[in-house]
Amino acid sequence: MFSVNIAPIAQLDRVSVYETGGCTFESCWARIHPFESQVVKFMITEFRSHEYYMRLAIAEAEKAFKSGEVPVGAIIVYENSIIAKAHNQREMLSDPTAHAEMIAITQASAYLQNWRLSNTTVYVTLEPCAMCAGALVQARAKTLVYGAKDEKYGACESTVNLVNDPRFNHRLNVVSGVLENECSLLLKQFFLEKCRGD
Ligand code: ZN
Repeated sequence: MFSVNIAPIAQLDRVSVYETGGCTFESCWARIHPFESQVVKFMITEFRSHEYYMRLAIAEAEKAFKSGEVPVGAIIVYENSIIAKAHNQREMLSDPTAHAEMIAITQASAYLQNWRLSNTTVYVTLEPCAMCAGALVQARAKTLVYGAKDEKYGACESTVNLVNDPRFNHRLNVVSGVLENECSLLLKQFFLEKCRGD
């Protein structure tokens, strides 16, 4: 998509430092590379956004962890605003459909007063299962960004790919592996504690 060569790696590594106010970084580039600044700014904004929103999804997953739920969190963003945030509540609600994504989809639809979630980006800490992937297609969500892969239930690549099946009339853009280690570490910790009976 964009060449990472545009910006030095050292600067890309420090992007998170500027999460709350990227102006310093962007204006710096505007000064150094006036003709490329627009492209660089866009690239950095995208990069920062995915990490930034995924961190919020992780914060949701941590809430699930504290409640004894499998730690999965989801955030839905529309026009740079968060319109839904949720975590897995399967145990609390005794509901097999109460996955983070399903709850977030319902919240977002209520907010937009529309079942179509066109032009939304959905951030999830774990690769969505078949139910959630199907719901994302039904909702016509534009982009899915997820962290850790789910080799057992993931339906966006690992087992099947329901969000990019040409037989459906809607497909999502997918970005995977965003903060993958943090997302999977939370899950590993959860199941380790379960095994130990903590
Ligand atoms: Zn699911």
